Amino acid sequence: MSRNHLETDYLIVGAGAVGMAFTDVILKETDANIILVDQHHKPGGHWNDAYPFVTLHQPSAYYGVSSVELSRGQKDLTGWNKGLGDLASGAEVSAYFDNVMKQHFLPSGRVQFHSMCRYDGDKKFTNILSGEEFDVSVRRKTIDATFLKTTVPSTHTPNFSISPDVQFMPLNNLPKVRKTPAGYVVIGAGKTGIDACLWLLEQGASPDSIQWIMPRDAWLLDRKNTQATEEFFFDAIGSQAGHLEAIATSESIHDMFDKLEACGWFLRIDENVRPSMFHGATVSQMELEQLRRIKNIIRLGRVQSIEHDKIILDQGEIPTSPDHLHIDCSARAISNEEIKPIFQGDLITPQMVRSYQPVFSAAFIAHTEAAYGTDEEKNNFCGVVPLPNHDTDFIKFTAAFLMNQYKWGQTPEIRKWLFENRLDGFSKLLASVKPEDTEKSALLDKLRANAPLAATKLFQFMNEIN
Ligand SMILES: Cc1cc2nc3c(=O)[nH]c(=O)nc-3n(C[C@H](O)[C@H](O)[C@H](O)COP(=O)(O)OP(=O)(O)OC[C@H]3O[C@@H](n4cnc5c(N)ncnc54)[C@H](O)[C@@H]3O)c2cc1C
Repeated sequence: MSRNHLETDYLIVGAGAVGMAFTDVILKETDANIILVDQHHKPGGHWNDAYPFVTLHQPSAYYGVSSVELSRGQKDLTGWNKGLGDLASGAEVSAYFDNVMKQHFLPSGRVQFHSMCRYDGDKKFTNILSGEEFDVSVRRKTIDATFLKTTVPSTHTPNFSISPDVQFMPLNNLPKVRKTPAGYVVIGAGKTGIDACLWLLEQGASPDSIQWIMPRDAWLLDRKNTQATEEFFFDAIGSQAGHLEAIATSESIHDMFDKLEACGWFLRIDENVRPSMFHGATVSQMELEQLRRIKNIIRLGRVQSIEHDKIILDQGEIPTSPDHLHIDCSARAISNEEIKPIFQGDLITPQMVRSYQPVFSAAFIAHTEAAYGTDEEKNNFCGVVPLPNHDTDFIKFTAAFLMNQYKWGQTPEIRKWLFENRLDGFSKLLASVKPEDTEKSALLDKLRANAPLAATKLFQFMNEIN
């Protein structure tokens, strides 16, 4: 079959949240043309494979692409997120990205979207349905928007064996259950494990019918602190200031985690078990109360195999049966712990430059690409905030984030960009404080005073760990 030749300024591999947020800023801030390639049939990446009851876990207000609002601007009136900003469902996020592509990107005449196409490397891709092959002359850069390697239960292969006669499913299939099982075994304690447990409880399953396999307990974040609106100023900015003070005044790493919990930055499910995992999963206080109703938590390490009548774990075994429903939540959402420079010659590899914010990060990286000159200058503004896994990863993760914030704060052009960007939830909130607002101003003073002290302490802890 003959090859098709295409030309573009930017070749973006992956039309997930990261590829879409990057494209949006390049479209707005440059006159470049863009080719997006993705093996899904629609943009939105993993949201196309998500379980039916998935939602964002942080407010919709600062998710998606910069130039198109996703939030309905409402607070939830019912449910366990009541009183907090709306959380778009997976279906809404998927429809949103489809709309952004069809109504904004494609009509610009500067974007081509090649769906159902597999990128083969070296600026070549193949249409999976037709077998047609393409190669692309790229005038500016290639963007690897697949690097974060998001995995979700429906597309991941569990790393343990499963007897053919047991009931085993990704949480995607839970709404299809039609026969009451002997019990539910939720495998995994990350955000999807939490979602599976909450869904079961919400739909009426008894907490005693749930066994929750929790290889590691996790430090969780309080969703109240992620609300970037005036009403939540003292939660959002207060918790920022409080957590910096907690770090700055801590005497050891152990003490730092104690203080972070005491000031409300971290939550945990069981107050008697010290978490050793940190993925940035976010819950509301009401959700936490619900999760605490589940008493049958199995802390025997990871599953090695599910057999006819027992589950073998790293540190023991528990009974099960073919009448139990085993729910796979063992996929790790963003799993790539490797880091590399974001700007390297004609390749851009978007990664996190602000904690917990992959889409903001992609937008900011695109702005840096559009506005600054050398790779050195761009990488200086875009220090990689490494994805956390273990509890102590919080240290380098927060240190990297503070370094970036410091550099951005010193650069008026970036301060202005942040202030005007929808995905930066907090700059407007900070800028809204008037000098006569003494309580808020005092909080800002506390934030500013503790940021450098916290950074110093984090570097000290990093040295201790090393
Ligand atoms: C349940 C859940 C809830 C989340 N909630 C939030 C939240 O509230 N707030 C927040 O900020 N973040 C949230 N996240 C994280 C975040 O939205 C995304 O997971 C993250 O941005 C990753 O997006 P991505 O574009 O890097 O990856 P993906 O969505 O995986 O997109 C990558 C794309 O690349 C394509 N691709 C890969 N390889 C190839 C190839 N060889 N050829 C062609 N195409 C290829 C894939 O088909 C895919 O479409 C959540 C994640 C999950 C799983």
